[in-house]
Amino acid sequence: MTKYPAVFLDRDGTLIDDVGYIRHTSEVSFYPFTSEALLMLQEHFLLFVITNQSGIAKGLTTEKEVSEVNKYILNTLKKQDIIIHDLFCCPHKNEDNCECKKPKTQFIEKAATKYDIDLTRSFIIGDHPSDVQCGINAGITPLYLLTGHGRKHKGEISNETIIYTNLLEASKYIINKNKQT
Ligand SMILES: [Mg+2]
Ligand SMILES: [Zn+2]
Repeated sequence: MTKYPAVFLDRDGTLIDDVGYIRHTSEVSFYPFTSEALLMLQEHFLLFVITNQSGIAKGLTTEKEVSEVNKYILNTLKKQDIIIHDLFCCPHKNEDNCECKKPKTQFIEKAATKYDIDLTRSFIIGDHPSDVQCGINAGITPLYLLTGHGRKHKGEISNETIIYTNLLEASKYIINKNKQT
């Protein structure tokens, strides 16, 4: 059986503007290049979103608010024929010591089993060092973005990390790379 490669996408600072803990759909602002990038990627990859939403554990947002926002994001993308196969959301804060908060890999492992994913050909894209570390921990290629918190934390990632200005540039890299294999 053929296994599918996947791209795991961070949410805030990757697909949409990072404006802090989002409670309402009115605060969601997609980057102008998000749709183009995802349409390109989904031709060759299964798409997933993995998001850390510690605002829930901190009492700054509720599970319901975050879930409404997530639904809205998936629906908005769906209207543009973009299919996100699954969205995984960690509601915990660091002190909770959960198994799902990036850079931990539980969600990637879950997706890999459920959707028959070939991790050796998969990628993770995000704007935080924890996204990069999550990719390393899971054995998939991480791409670091300079949108969102990317510029601020750039000094914290290792020299060999692949860096792109935004999701569209990272997606072009992935598509090219995929053609070569
Ligand atoms: Mg982010
Ligand atoms: Zn968690």
